[in-house]
Amino acid sequence: MTIRDILCYPDPRLSQVSQPLTVFDEKSDMLINDMLDTMADAEGIGLAAVQIGVLLRVTVININEPLVLVNPEFKVLEDTMHCDEEGCLSLPGIRAEITRPSRIKVKAQDRQGNKIKLKAEGLESICIQHEIDHMDGKLFINKLTPLSKAKIDTPLRNLIALYREKHQQN
Ligand SMILES: [Zn+2]
Repeated sequence: MTIRDILCYPDPRLSQVSQPLTVFDEKSDMLINDMLDTMADAEGIGLAAVQIGVLLRVTVININEPLVLVNPEFKVLEDTMHCDEEGCLSLPGIRAEITRPSRIKVKAQDRQGNKIKLKAEGLESICIQHEIDHMDGKLFINKLTPLSKAKIDTPLRNLIALYREKHQQN
């Protein structure tokens, strides 16, 4: 069991675009095991590889049961939007209301590289979209209006201060 460090905002790696995983081997298997362990330890419901500094399109999600999605893509199934409060392991202590399409269909690969398809709604759908955003270098705070972003100005500044402190020590 290996718990990896989770990168926090404003780590520049969180803004980078992840590359597809193409080789399914012992190394990718180990990465996925570490991600599952790290997510469980942090009591999160989703984690993208970039959050532990690995720029590959891999995510683990735990809504009803652990789900591994490699190279996921989604299409919106209907126009209904869903607004819910989101949080992120890379933005500790920050939550904000985000609006996203509520029902999606997802194409991905499993941890062995087999193609999988699924439909998701509610929290699972939100979580998958949130993780795919991570793979594209986006955090949920990028979706906020200036007014909603102003509301979390103080905790964001605190995270920036913490990050600077940590990097000056290293
Ligand atoms: Zn996140």
